[in-house]
Amino acid sequence: MKAITFDPGRKDLKIAERPEPRITRPDEVKLRMLKVGVCGTDRERIAEGKAKPPKGFKDIVIGHENMGVVVEAGGGVTSVKAGDLAAFTIRRGCGECTPCNVGRPDMCRTGNYMDRGLSGIDGFNAEYAVDREEYVVKVPEGLGPIGVLLEPMSVVEKAIGESMRLQFARLPDALSSPDWLYGKKALVAGIGNIGLLAALALRLRGAEVYGLDIVESASVRVRWLLGIGGYYIDGRSVKPEKVDEVIGPIDMVVEAAGVPGLEFGLFDTLARDGIYVVAGIPSEEVHGGKVAVNGAELMSRLVRMNLLVFGSVSSAPGHFRAAIDDFIRAEYRWKGHLGKMITAEFDYTDFKGVLTRKDEKEIKSVIKWAA
Ligand SMILES: [Zn+2]
Ligand SMILES: [Zn+2]
Repeated sequence: MKAITFDPGRKDLKIAERPEPRITRPDEVKLRMLKVGVCGTDRERIAEGKAKPPKGFKDIVIGHENMGVVVEAGGGVTSVKAGDLAAFTIRRGCGECTPCNVGRPDMCRTGNYMDRGLSGIDGFNAEYAVDREEYVVKVPEGLGPIGVLLEPMSVVEKAIGESMRLQFARLPDALSSPDWLYGKKALVAGIGNIGLLAALALRLRGAEVYGLDIVESASVRVRWLLGIGGYYIDGRSVKPEKVDEVIGPIDMVVEAAGVPGLEFGLFDTLARDGIYVVAGIPSEEVHGGKVAVNGAELMSRLVRMNLLVFGSVSSAPGHFRAAIDDFIRAEYRWKGHLGKMITAEFDYTDFKGVLTRKDEKEIKSVIKWAA
């Protein structure tokens, strides 16, 4: 079968022949890939030559944001059948630690996990993919056009879900409302694909949502944000640490930009008892590593204001299911709006441009494997 492979040693990105994967166990599912999303991580790994090929290979099939149609299921599979739309989760556990052994490799403790399409296992830019049923999530027929967005949304669901559980656990008043976020101020830093999906999840929970970035107000990303009732703050005219002076203290910050200088500046915007989840991963090559901060000011603010700061990465099947629930609610409330997030679709033979550079008019570009 055809697949898009990347050889990090030679920085070689091409269409190659890979053996078509076959079902070899009763709990396996085979998908014919329909769409694979392109994200910043893919481009970064390609630019920096950093993806880690499977054992014994010099190259790796790239791509992790996926959706396909089930073409075959092993005899023991009950959650999907041939003809269903489905997506695979990304992380595969180490097999040694408790989280991995209870289906939560996103919380792996040894670090010996693998991520499909990123490190150690082939990804989904291929005609077919096979994996175990525990990693497959059925996608409702009606969400077909946006199913490829479920993986990035699952990352958002994990970050926001964890934030809510942490607030419920520590704030005496949080449990008085089933939705702590209702009427709260939330700031999303970086309105790329993940940031906009976070804004969507926060809006669905009733928060007043502000997106912070450095793009023109007329850009497609800002328009998407305004379309769900969010507000835009142009970081070129308002310094990140001054945002609270304009809109008031922020109850929840979701950092999805991965810009270290910005990340430290946002501590200043938080309200008392505020929560700050960091989901962007900075690249030293792109953003530089060193940042000057007033450590005494920062740490005493953290203590005096009961601030909670934590990082969140990857996702598990439950987060994909939460993403499906939110997409259904979003489609009901803003019909067709999620679909506008997919700003370009490319035939798989057209892979090179989209995987090596970012279009300013892009929110999410998708590679098409089949209709
Ligand atoms: Zn991604
Ligand atoms: Zn593990």
